[in-house]
Amino acid sequence: MPDPNGFLRYDRRLPARRPVPVRISDWREVYPPAGEELIREQATRCMDCGIPFCHDGCPLGNRIPDWNDLVRTGNWDVAVESLHATNNFPEFTGRLCPAPCEAACVLGLGGQQPVTIKQVEVEIADAAVARDGLRPRPASAPTGRSVAVVGSGPAGLAAAQQLARAGHTVTVYERDDAIGGLLRYGIPDFKLEKQHIDKRLAQLTAEGVRFRTGVEVGVDVTAERLRAEHDAVLLACGALQGRDTPETPGRALRGVHQAMAHLVAANRVVAAAGNGRPALATLPDGTPIDAAGKHVVIIGGGDTAADCLGVAHRQGAAGVHQLDLYPQPPSERDAERDPWPTWPWLLRSYPAHEEGGERVFAVAVQEFVDDGTGQVRAVRIAEVTVEKVDGRRIVTPLPGSEREIPADLVLLAIGFEGTEQQPLLAQFGVTRNARGAVDSRPDWQAADGVFVAGDMHRGASLIVWAIAEGRAAAAAIHAYLGGVGELPAPVDPARQPLAAR
Ligand SMILES: Cc1cc2nc3c(=O)[nH]c(=O)nc-3n(C[C@H](O)[C@H](O)[C@H](O)COP(=O)(O)OP(=O)(O)OC[C@H]3O[C@@H](n4cnc5c(N)ncnc54)[C@H](O)[C@@H]3O)c2cc1C
Ligand code: SF4
Repeated sequence: MPDPNGFLRYDRRLPARRPVPVRISDWREVYPPAGEELIREQATRCMDCGIPFCHDGCPLGNRIPDWNDLVRTGNWDVAVESLHATNNFPEFTGRLCPAPCEAACVLGLGGQQPVTIKQVEVEIADAAVARDGLRPRPASAPTGRSVAVVGSGPAGLAAAQQLARAGHTVTVYERDDAIGGLLRYGIPDFKLEKQHIDKRLAQLTAEGVRFRTGVEVGVDVTAERLRAEHDAVLLACGALQGRDTPETPGRALRGVHQAMAHLVAANRVVAAAGNGRPALATLPDGTPIDAAGKHVVIIGGGDTAADCLGVAHRQGAAGVHQLDLYPQPPSERDAERDPWPTWPWLLRSYPAHEEGGERVFAVAVQEFVDDGTGQVRAVRIAEVTVEKVDGRRIVTPLPGSEREIPADLVLLAIGFEGTEQQPLLAQFGVTRNARGAVDSRPDWQAADGVFVAGDMHRGASLIVWAIAEGRAAAAAIHAYLGGVGELPAPVDPARQPLAAR
């Protein structure tokens, strides 16, 4: 029986982050392990409220009160079983998920701070790995059916694991030189050290999943060949088409880049250093990828922008400004606009924000300013108001509000426009919709025998949604192949996050 008064006895506490001067001098994760005592205390704050809205907040339907109570009572072995029953990769979500479950925690109804669900999750996952590694769970018998998974992000990997464990022969095709999708080269090591991906890959390999890196489906191998060699295909190619701003004067200057160009290159340098290999030192246009000594301007307010901020500080930037089009959000939930248990519009500060830099809200770039040699020297910004008219966003600069911010390096982190336009789409007979995503039927098929999941289907989203969609698409493929029994399907293709409107 959970402790009904735990939340009255204990306040919400997270482990202390590593001190800023220490952590920006390396690329290690920001959070040290929390320690068993703190996690047991925090798990005790879960009162097992009877109708756990956190289940609905989590797209995976993680059984949060169950594993909170198992941690409280010291049953870590059983807790990890419960966690793995719904989540293939809790060590990823426990580190990276923005935790919509916590926004839906019933404690929030009474004005209390939510349970630290995400922290408990990662500690359960890490404790299991430390105890006896990630034990492979190969299928008891092969089905003789074969599936190609295109794309090795969390959606592709979750589907691959589910299908391999059900006995199907799974081959994951990845055009990059390493497996992991955005987890590998998009998300920096200070949020997710890559050893966590490598440990999972060892488990997947031992479970029979085959990996083919450096293979771009649609170019190096045709869709026709893939369909001939496999009984079903899952497309999980992500939503990596970066939004740009070609109309802004000066966009073509040297030093103005898509955030991902800088971020991926920077992450590759870290990966190369870790492997003792020489670092890749420049972007394709010859710009050194290093922000050292530079005035950096990051345009955008999401995960990508925060990751650029952390990277810039670790590279030794002289100063960083982060610009956001929208006004500064409130620091408390606006119950009129976003009632509990929905995901509230709030000022979200990542650990990268306490490392330095200045956030500037309600501004838009009017021009990237040339230093006279074709290199950016500043951005000219104006204060703006933003309103929605007939679904369209209207941005209005305030007269007389323009000013310049010095900039040697400008990073555009203004979102993604869906999955990339690439040969694979036409070859498989699928098309991008108005949002740049690929629609599916209710059974996850985008064309006969061709399934789609993750960001490619949903548009740029979250790791927890990618895993949920990968699991659900795997269940649909298993049924399509006539597999015995049913695999878990936490979401259907139309499922949306909890929302009031
Ligand atoms: C910088 C950044 C930071 C983020 N931080 C967070 C975070 O902290 N928390 C969070 O929850 N979410 C975060 N996200 C979002 C999250 O990473 C994505 O939602 C998630 O990775 C989507 O998973 P996916 O498997 O659908 O696609 P992806 O991870 O994008 O993987 C798709 C893979 O498909 C491969 N591919 C594409 N086309 C082909 C082809 N033709 N042949 C072979 N391979 C192909 C790509 O190379 C890629 O490896 C972040 C995103 C970015 C960009
Ligand atoms: S995956 Fe995300 S939403 Fe689900 S329990 Fe973990 S932190 Fe919460």
